[in-house]
Amino acid sequence: VPAEVRELLTSRIHDVPDYPKPGVMFKDITPLLADARAFAVLTDAFAGLAERHRATKIVGLEARGFILGAPAAVRAGIGFVPVRKSGKLPGATLSQAYDLEYGSAQIEVHASGLAEGDRVLVIDDVLATGGTAEASVELIRRTGAEVAGVAILLELGFLAGRERLERALAGAPLEVL
Ligand code: AMP
Repeated sequence: VPAEVRELLTSRIHDVPDYPKPGVMFKDITPLLADARAFAVLTDAFAGLAERHRATKIVGLEARGFILGAPAAVRAGIGFVPVRKSGKLPGATLSQAYDLEYGSAQIEVHASGLAEGDRVLVIDDVLATGGTAEASVELIRRTGAEVAGVAILLELGFLAGRERLERALAGAPLEVL
């Protein structure tokens, strides 16, 4: 994205120190969402990436990936598929476990949501350890769909999430706005 767009977006993301626990710098995107122009510019950027990578579906990662991914899907004229934390989807699901700092977590997608022939752009707000995005890439591939790329608003560079995710992507693009 152009430098002035990047500047507009980053100016609307607030750093909240020690949230949700000491030592974490939380990136709060709610000011961006509340700013109609910034949200529209961001939506256009994600929709443009979907078009450039010829995506047939957008997957949003719970929960902020829903807020960012859904309008981009509408703008790009393609469908939206949620990847949720486990136990939230009513239909038959595929699930994928991944490791957290302490313990593990699981994400799920409806088995009927994606299929062979789909090209999926994954959208989320923040890339930290890369664990969530990596698990989503593996989950999506197990449906038979192809991962067209992962698009992220903001990367926390010091966490090496990029290397981890790029390994999982195996050549598919990682787009950080
Ligand atoms: P990770 O799996 O470690 O890459 O974490 C990514 C997920 O956690 C994303 O869905 C983010 O929304 C959220 N997240 C992790 N760290 C932060 C942070 N510092 N600020 C805001 N969200 C975060």
